[in-house]
Amino acid sequence: MENALEIQGLSKKYAQFALQDVSFAVPCGCVMGLIGENGAGKTTTIKAILNLLHRDAGEIHVFGMDTIAEERAVKEQIGVVLEDGNFPQFFTAAQADGFMSRAYKNWDKDAFYRYLSRFGIETNKKIKDYSKGMRMKLSIAAALSHHARLLILDEPTSGLDPVVRDEVLDLFWEFLQDDDHSVLMSTHITSDLDKIADYITFIHEGRVLFSEPRDELLETYGVLKCTSAQLDALDPKAVRASRRGAFGAEALVRRGMVPQGWPVESVNIEQIMLFCTKGEN
Ligand code: ATP
Repeated sequence: MENALEIQGLSKKYAQFALQDVSFAVPCGCVMGLIGENGAGKTTTIKAILNLLHRDAGEIHVFGMDTIAEERAVKEQIGVVLEDGNFPQFFTAAQADGFMSRAYKNWDKDAFYRYLSRFGIETNKKIKDYSKGMRMKLSIAAALSHHARLLILDEPTSGLDPVVRDEVLDLFWEFLQDDDHSVLMSTHITSDLDKIADYITFIHEGRVLFSEPRDELLETYGVLKCTSAQLDALDPKAVRASRRGAFGAEALVRRGMVPQGWPVESVNIEQIMLFCTKGEN
């Protein structure tokens, strides 16, 4: 399967933070959820993909094209939604249309206005007077209206109410009906990933802790609630992370390596994330 996006050995150093040797790939037709706590390096990774910052090391390819050497061709293939919105606050949707038509060869004005009317966005109102949901929908409408094959979304559902969040996820679903379309989406709302992600990449303190198919993660791992003594008796290779308290212990375990009969419960993405960041490894 061709990869929509491939990141190899990406590094970027700031005074107080370093993104270190980040590598992962998004296969064509798939949704990759990029997760990690505040300040883990998700936005930095996304900015590096989009050449919005200078990277210290690493190579990034989109549909096989180098994102630096073939920047213009790559740009046409990517629909982008940034955390802070894509347009200046003083723009109207009509001005956003003008801006996008100059920026993208394949800009589809009709598609853009169809989205605006579907979302009930007034074309002559300034973005500063939009609600947060409207701002996000405008950015998504723009990202979807130049026939991109890869959507890159930085926290597209954060701060949205559950109804608007669901509408936004539906838009991504529609986009994904074409087998050639792929999505990279950073988020804190792991329940959204339970709905749409095929793969999960987890960044912690600037490094990739894992990048794996979501279903494999959920099948491989489980939560074991036991006594501290039972935890000590387990093969250390069975335990990915653990937490001990006054009343016992909890561990994120590899199901296949735990003795038969021990009660291992199923796990969700949020629990895996919490164990990996807060637990002892
Ligand atoms: P959040 O979930 O809060 O959006 P994030 O995972 O997207 O977090 P980043 O925005 O990538 O995290 O930031 C990672 C770290 O890099 C943070 O500590 C941030 O302060 C630092 N950082 C980001 N941009 C710069 C910059 N231009 N100069 C210096 N440090 C920066």
